[in-house]
Amino acid sequence: MRTLRTVIELRTAVRAARRQDPGARVGLVPTMGALHAGHASLIDAAARTCNVVAVTVFVNPLQFSPNEDLAEYPRPFANDVTLSEAHGAHYVFHPSVEEMYGQSGAAVLTTVHVAGITDTLEGAARPGHFDGVSTVVAKLLNAAGPCRAFFGEKDYQQLQVVRQLVHDLSFPIEIVGCPIVRESDGLAMSSRNAYLSAEDRRRASALSRELFAARDRASGRAKDPRSLEEETRRALIGSGLDVDYVEVVDSLSMERAERLGPGLALAAAVRLGKTRLIDNVLLPADEIPRPPER
Ligand code: AMP
Repeated sequence: MRTLRTVIELRTAVRAARRQDPGARVGLVPTMGALHAGHASLIDAAARTCNVVAVTVFVNPLQFSPNEDLAEYPRPFANDVTLSEAHGAHYVFHPSVEEMYGQSGAAVLTTVHVAGITDTLEGAARPGHFDGVSTVVAKLLNAAGPCRAFFGEKDYQQLQVVRQLVHDLSFPIEIVGCPIVRESDGLAMSSRNAYLSAEDRRRASALSRELFAARDRASGRAKDPRSLEEETRRALIGSGLDVDYVEVVDSLSMERAERLGPGLALAAAVRLGKTRLIDNVLLPADEIPRPPER
């Protein structure tokens, strides 16, 4: 396995692999590092269906606002390399901020903005976040030129944003969504879980527990979305979590849902001290929906 640090190196490596095997399928797994079993499941999925697998490890400053955890974000790069290799990656692309955005750091003149589906949830809570995500994803897809790129349903809205941008900008790439990998108590694995104190870690399990409980209550369809949100919000607060949002949304458009039914997602963001966690469940338990072919 090789670590690559420049766009040219990545392009050259992918080109060489395709020269050797013109039918080679190239898989890309974009991450911010501090890799865990959730990321590993994406690399596994890529390795199962692609001949060449590249994992990208880049803490993207463009998707953090000034009051967020960019400086503290964990960067255990040696571990990331070991995990990537163990799960079948051929390349780890680990560029510097300068390599991605030039000498002036995160100053770029061109950004990618996906409208509409970024108006709610994380888009509303973190202004500018999805422009940063969309811009770096577009750059990484251009740099690697993969056949497939793998994203987790953990960041559900992000997955739909990436699907939309690939469709709208005609990237010849298949976006593969992968299920959320959870700890034994249900907490969705996240690089940010490492920030939690033992007490907060214990409390954090309420997030998935209450989302699953809400999903069970919703499957009877006796409730309306607002009361489901309100009950879940109260349960989370009762478990000691500071709630950023709890919303039932259409699982494609990400618009607030007016009634319960198929094709919805219940998404929540909470804070424990300085740590912010997100999670989601589909209502009812369902295959992840894809945008209709256009
Ligand atoms: P991140 O490094 O947090 O930017 O995540 C990189 C990719 O891994 C994204 O597509 C995430 O959705 C995905 N991911 C992170 N945590 C999990 C998880 N627990 N299960 C599945 N995918 C995940």
